[in-house]
Amino acid sequence: MTTRLYYHDSFLYDFDAEVREATENPRPALVLERTAFYPTSGGQIFDTGWILAGDPNHPTKLRVTEVADAEDGKVVHYLEAPVKNVQPGTRVRGQIDGARRRDHMQQHSGQHVLSAAFVRLFNAPTVSFHMADDYCSIDLDAPTLAKEQVESAERLANEIILENRAVQVRFVTCDEAANLGLRKLPPAERDELRLIDIRDFDLSACGGTHVAQTGQIGCVLLRKVEKVRQGWRVEFVAGQRAVATARRDFTALTEAAALFSAHIYDVPQQVRKSLEEIRVLRRQREQSQEELAAAQAATLLAETSETNGRKFVVRNFTDRDLNFIKMLAQKLVRLSFNAVALLATTSPQPSLVFAQSAGQPFDMGALMKETVATMGGRGGGSKDMAQGGVASGEGLDPKLSGIAQKLAAAKVP
Ligand SMILES: [Zn+2]
Repeated sequence: MTTRLYYHDSFLYDFDAEVREATENPRPALVLERTAFYPTSGGQIFDTGWILAGDPNHPTKLRVTEVADAEDGKVVHYLEAPVKNVQPGTRVRGQIDGARRRDHMQQHSGQHVLSAAFVRLFNAPTVSFHMADDYCSIDLDAPTLAKEQVESAERLANEIILENRAVQVRFVTCDEAANLGLRKLPPAERDELRLIDIRDFDLSACGGTHVAQTGQIGCVLLRKVEKVRQGWRVEFVAGQRAVATARRDFTALTEAAALFSAHIYDVPQQVRKSLEEIRVLRRQREQSQEELAAAQAATLLAETSETNGRKFVVRNFTDRDLNFIKMLAQKLVRLSFNAVALLATTSPQPSLVFAQSAGQPFDMGALMKETVATMGGRGGGSKDMAQGGVASGEGLDPKLSGIAQKLAAAKVP
């Protein structure tokens, strides 16, 4: 069983210990007789740092990349590289990445204050805590959670932080704990409980590393709130993470505001205005396209002479999209009783549209299927209107002319 130095001092970043186990497989790892490294547990993620071995003046620095709880209460330090000359009994020095530890303390203590605030204000207990590399979240057991409640909890939590209340670690027996009114009890039965006591505000059983005064949390900033299966998930950041997040928000907002030449607080209003303008322009564009298609259809029909009593309109566009050629095909077959439209575009994807005036004898759907099958594409449609896409726009012109000639020569009524 590894003695956990962090249980008594969260600010101990440097310690001596004796190696108990050194392994290479499946990953290089060390087990020490005692450690200040925190293993992932209770929602808090592991510490990283270094283990120094060998000559104290020229030590070998072993990078600790992950720390985990193992069976029998052992703490396993996973190393970046295989261990050389470190056997059980070797004296080593542990050094924890202090910046990472401080960040984790700010997040975890911030979580206790925030969870207690939700209980005090709304009787909403925290059912789980998750710490990721860039944000944290708690799941609240609550039927509803309004924006105002989130803001009140954030305000109360920050007041408790500002009051700089003492945060103490206490060890009690389970019987003693039963009468203390803990916010959170541990899942398993144990002889002794470690309690985190935020003076006159919160008392919880917890094995994590915590600040000594709430002021060291800095602040908590609540972010996304979303409904989850068993209640509400509230994302938050504390301390330096909150500052880094606010900085990132400000940068993004400033960039958006500059695009609109507006103040950052006017960005939503500017976005709404732009979206409305886009909506109006889209409608106008659609209308113009309709008018253009109608005019172009009339011109094409006037230019096209009849072959065997039908007008075969064959066109391959490079500057019109599929939507436009569909519109054009519809106009062509509506404006004329005997039109057959064989249209294509290569912009942005090579596409085909075949259509015929109502009552004409061909089968556009079947013709489309047959055509795209020979060109590595897909398509189909009804008897009077069909569309398809092909892999390449190459050879489209002769293909369309060939189809027109075949249809014109067909013996149909
Ligand atoms: Zn905790």
